[in-house]
Amino acid sequence: MALEIHQFPCLSDNFGVLIHDTERGVTASIDAPNADSVRAALAEKGWKLSYILTTHHHADHTDGNLALKAETGCVIIGPKAEAAKIPGIDTQVSEGDAFRLGSYQVQVIETPGHTNGHITFYIPTANVAFVGDTLFALGCGRVIEGTMEMMWTSLAKLAALPGNTAIYCGHEYTLANARFALTIEPENANLVARAAEVEALRKAGKPTLPTRIDIECATNPFLRVTSAAIRKRLGLETAPDWQVFAEVRTRKNNA
Ligand SMILES: [Zn+2]
Repeated sequence: MALEIHQFPCLSDNFGVLIHDTERGVTASIDAPNADSVRAALAEKGWKLSYILTTHHHADHTDGNLALKAETGCVIIGPKAEAAKIPGIDTQVSEGDAFRLGSYQVQVIETPGHTNGHITFYIPTANVAFVGDTLFALGCGRVIEGTMEMMWTSLAKLAALPGNTAIYCGHEYTLANARFALTIEPENANLVARAAEVEALRKAGKPTLPTRIDIECATNPFLRVTSAAIRKRLGLETAPDWQVFAEVRTRKNNA
């Protein structure tokens, strides 16, 4: 059995992602930024849409929901905590819920902060998580609806996933994130090397995603709030982790 994953750019800087259980012929779209892009990706792969898995209510993640549902009869699964804002939602899920997608079990992890109901879809047997706008390569989502402490708790949950977990995110923001990350931890050799790699990938027009949990834990300043060098630079040697996170997030907002 295999889970095939097809990532494609859409809108200005979003990613669409289709996942396909090759054994059972079941296909899900992770979010639906735009019906045309998802439809074209399905046609390219020759897959029929069975589900849309919605991470959060923002329009650039849900605009395609109703059109795709009308065309395919797909089932839309999304966060209970913001179900009223998810167009066409059929099944509401929350922390600890699990459901079958073909041969795979999908686990729901609540990761609020960017929005209050944001969820992550985690498939342990495929070593993959779809994190929407919570975690980005070398960055994280803006804390729009929740609190800084809430967002930090969500990121810490993701950081605790197995290191080899592949991470698919909602946006290609990595180049700007890399440049910012270097202002927070310029002495991190892993970060310096990765930033160079990201510059080269983007120059060649290639995506920098998916990433992996172990790579993010080694290089992403938003996950590295226990680093003594970062704490010293920010003058927060003894602050709780979430406060260090909040300072890094605030600096990024103002960068
Ligand atoms: Zn969003």
